[in-house]
Parts: sequence; C-alpha cells; structure tokens
Amino acid sequence: MFKYLAPTLLSSLFLFHSCMESSDKKDETSIVIADNIDQHTHAKPDEAKVTHLNWRAQIDFEEKKIVAETKWKIEKDSLADSIIFDIHNLKINSVRVGGIERRDYYLGAADPILGQPLVIFIDSSTQWVAISYETNDGADALQWLDPQQTKGKSHPFLYTQSQAILARTWLPCQDSPGIKFTYTASVSVPNDLMAVMSATNGVGKNEKGNYQFAMKQPIPSYLMALAVGNLEFRKMSDRTGVYAEPEVIEAAVLEFEETDEMMKIAESFFGPYQWERYDILVLPPSFPFGGMENPRLTFVTPTIIAGDKSLTALIAHELAHSWSGNLVTNATWNDFWLNEGFTVYLERRIMDSLRGSDFNDMLAVLGYQDLEYDLARLPKEETSLYLDLAGRNPDDGMTDIAYEKGALFLTYLEENVGRKNMDQFLTDYFKQNSFSSITTANFLEQLDTIMFKGDSNRMKKLRIDRWVYRAGLPGEHIEPTSSEIQYVRSTMKAWSDKAFSFDELETSDWNALQWIDFLRRLPDTLSAERYQRLDMIFKFSQSPNNEIKAIWFERSIQAGYIGVKDELKAFLMEVGRRKFLYPIYEAMLSNDEYNSLARSIYKDARKNYHSVSRKSIDQLMDKD
Ligand SMILES: [Zn+2]
Repeated sequence: MFKYLAPTLLSSLFLFHSCMESSDKKDETSIVIADNIDQHTHAKPDEAKVTHLNWRAQIDFEEKKIVAETKWKIEKDSLADSIIFDIHNLKINSVRVGGIERRDYYLGAADPILGQPLVIFIDSSTQWVAISYETNDGADALQWLDPQQTKGKSHPFLYTQSQAILARTWLPCQDSPGIKFTYTASVSVPNDLMAVMSATNGVGKNEKGNYQFAMKQPIPSYLMALAVGNLEFRKMSDRTGVYAEPEVIEAAVLEFEETDEMMKIAESFFGPYQWERYDILVLPPSFPFGGMENPRLTFVTPTIIAGDKSLTALIAHELAHSWSGNLVTNATWNDFWLNEGFTVYLERRIMDSLRGSDFNDMLAVLGYQDLEYDLARLPKEETSLYLDLAGRNPDDGMTDIAYEKGALFLTYLEENVGRKNMDQFLTDYFKQNSFSSITTANFLEQLDTIMFKGDSNRMKKLRIDRWVYRAGLPGEHIEPTSSEIQYVRSTMKAWSDKAFSFDELETSDWNALQWIDFLRRLPDTLSAERYQRLDMIFKFSQSPNNEIKAIWFERSIQAGYIGVKDELKAFLMEVGRRKFLYPIYEAMLSNDEYNSLARSIYKDARKNYHSVSRKSIDQLMDKD
C-alpha cells in the first residue's frame, strides 16, 4: 500500500523547463525543477521510513501540554544505521529501540521553519522505535481554548492543525506528505470531555475519558488530527454525521444534511469512497481555515453555517479531498496544486450536480476573481502551478494559484477531451495511485500515458507544460461566466447610471453569492455616507453570512465608513479564520482612521487566534 518514489527512481522523470517556446515576453518566467525530494523534512525515507504508529497520549489541560509516546514501526534499507524524525519545539524524554532505552540519539541544529532532526541509531534487527516526549508552549499545531473561547463557554477545547509542516510540533514524525503510515491511538482526556481523531471515532463520551482510535488506511503526518472538547455526535446518514458542541449541533446538522448526497455524486464520477465513514467536526470560530480534510473527520469552521446552505461548497471541497489529497497526495509541498487544484475541480463538479449549473457558474466566477487578485498580487515566479519552495515555509504556496489556476487547468483539459474522458481518466488516476503520493512529473507522465495514450503531440498541442510550469495564465484559458452574476452587474450598472439610488434596488431574489459579487464590485468612489445608507437598507453588518459580513467590513474600512466599528470588533474578537482576518486587518492598517483600532483589537484578539493566523497577522503588523 505504501508507495514512496525514491529520488533515484525519479531521476529519469526530471524535467528542465526553459522559456524557449514562449513568444510572449510577459510569460517568460519559468521554473526550474531542481529535484523531487521533499525539502521540508529531515527524514531520509529511502534509508529508513515509518509504516505504522502506536500513539499513547495524555492531554493535560491544566498545563496545556500533551505528554505522549510515539511507537513507530519502521521499514529500512539493510544498510541503514539510523532513522531520522522531524521535531519542532518538542521536549524529548526518552528513546527506546526494540524495547531497550537508548541515550545515544541526537538532535541536529534547529531551523526556524523546519525544526530539528531527531536521529536515532538502529541496527539490522530494528523493527520498532519508541519516543517519549511532551509538547511545549510553542507547539504551533495546537490551539488550547479557554472555556470562554468556545460556543458553550463551559469547557476548554483543544484542536490540532498540522498542515503543512506542523505535525512535528505535537509528535515526532517523518513529516513529509510523501511518507504514509497507519495508526492506532490511546488518548486520555479529562472525563467531562470527548476526544476525536482522523480515525475511527466513538459516538459519545466515556466515563473514564479514555479513547481508542484506529486509522487503517495509510495517511501522511499532516493528516494526523486530534480535537478534545465538550462534543456531541448526531447521525446524518448511515455513513455521515456531525460532531460539535451541543450549542451548534442542531444548526450544523441542518446545514450539512446534503453531505450523503454529495458523497454519492462524487462516487458516481470518481470511484468509490475509500475511508468508510465521512463525519464533520465543527470547531470553535478560532479555527484558522475554512476546513481541513482530516480523513474520516473533516474539521470545519462554524463560519460556514449561514442557515441557508449557501456556503456548503466547502463541505463538497473537503469531501473531494477524500480522493485528491488524502487518497492521492502531493509528494512534496512544491506539488501542492495536485491536492488543491484537483479538489476545487472536483468540488465544482459535485456542486454542479447537486445545485445545478447556475450555482456552479457563480462559484467559478467568484473563484476566477480570487485568481485574478492573486495573479496581480504575487511575484511572477509564484504564479506557476509547480513551485520551488526550498528554504521557505510551504504555507507560502497556499495561494489561489494552487486552487483556482489548478482547477482552471483541469477545466481546460475537460473542455478539450470531453467530460466522459475526463471522468474516466480521473477514476483511473485515483485508482492507480490510491494511498500513494505523487509528484507533478508523475502526474504529467500519467496524463500522457492514460489520457493521451502516449501521443505526446497532444500534450504539446494543449501546451500542458506551459500551464504547469509557467507563470501567469495561458492565453487559451476559458474565463468562466455566470448569467446570475451578469444580472447583478447589469443591475449595478443601471444603478450607477442613475447615481445609485439604493432604495429602489430590487434585490429580493438575490442569493448570497450574488451579494458577494455585488460587494466585491462596489465602486471605490462611493462615499462613507453612501456606505452608511447601504448598511441601513441591507444590514450587511448584521448578516448571518460571514462571507458577506467579512467583505462588507473590508469595503467599509476602505471607504472610511466608521459605523461598523462595534460589529467589526466583535467579529475580530471571535473569528480566527485567516481568509477573513488578513484582508480586514490589511485594510485597517492602511486607513488612518482604523490603524490604531486595528492594533488595539489585535492586542486583545491575538490570543483567540491559532498560530497559523497569528503568524500572518504578526507579519502584517510588523510591515506597517
Ligand atoms: Zn483544500
């Protein structure tokens, strides 16, 4: 099941891309693929790698630390005399090799991004290596929430967020997406709390606070996940359910009730779901992302519960990762687009089938706007699908290039080969690469052999290399359109021709996505008074839809409308989703009226954010 492509095997696939075929000067930025080795791990899996983990852990809410042991089953080359793990800010208590304590392990120099290598000596008979350790205050994957930071305000909460390279901050591991392992876990928590993991989960609390888990399918370390809190479970169908605090569980079940249908749609296109169950864990609002595709148990932000299912494309997205990302994984973070570009494409296909093409076209248009924004914002060399992130934090590659340019590329492929061939290719691709990790070069080779039957002329004709290895967007891309969004735009134009008399707007049949487009396109020239008038009529500051609310805050700040201050402060104190925080703080810092308010809110709110969000906002504050 475990397939790791050692660098030697890959050398024949190395590609060197120059700018030879480009005739367009603007497109000449092209990336050199140095190698296919994961530069973000200290591990040397071609010498010794892990295959199974037995994790025993005690979750200490008083001290806010995890005290645990990882017992790793390993597989190695006959000549290997050591195995290397990644750790970042962990306290190692002891190491046992084959049951015997060893004191001759050593820690290499600490790198601010990668942490340290933990080198353990082994011999030809070694099968197991056990490491006892505890986490430190600076464990970036962990967020410990006090009761007042949760919905119920009565119990503390802990959750992990390991992608991309934060698993090493809460367990010693070979922290590479190219190395997969199965796991079992035994976790002790205070007996009024429930623990869940990216594994088999129970349906209720147990009196002793001891929870057992098993993940039978191999996963990479970034999909290791744990959450502990006052959780309840509600079944949605035979294979789907929701875990959440009791205060949000009813709303969550209603919002996510289409999940089983989404699964059936995805299976009909892309082959069987391989993880048995698909449950959703609703986290407190500090969660830094929209969702995290932890296998069997997607972690989601509560900010997608809008009451009208308008934001549940995110569930389709996380579910789609059960194929692209979790089943077939990017081998290195340079290949991140293989995870996200495919997933956005799959997400749209699911939503197209579930909600119809009108809804899906709106998603595609909004996604294209995101892409245009990132293309304008990012340095040219960061706008190719394949990236060279050596020496950098892999989080730097988490832009809409991977997501939206990746999806646009696959949509372009579909346009050229037909939907039937595309689905057949994807089904074969997921089957052939199940539970393994692949590079961009591997993907292109399979596209050539499976889709184009080795007819390289077709690859050339479609200029596949240009899509993958070059900056920007190839001229032949198809810009998505949507009649519903077009309707918003023509209505806006009519209003602007009439100098915006908002009271006359007929918007009763507009949906959330149309409103998002409307807010994104409000002219910069609109005065603060007019923003106030808009807010009075449409009550954006009080919208139950957090996407609408967040854009509204950003635009209001840019317009200098200060009437949103109270709602804005409440939002920033509670919500930790980086996608919302970053543009809002950025807008506040560049507006004199809001600059000092941004700093004082952040001073109080910072503790409510996960390290992923804190890092980004810290940088913004320093930059200003
Ligand atoms: Zn994703």
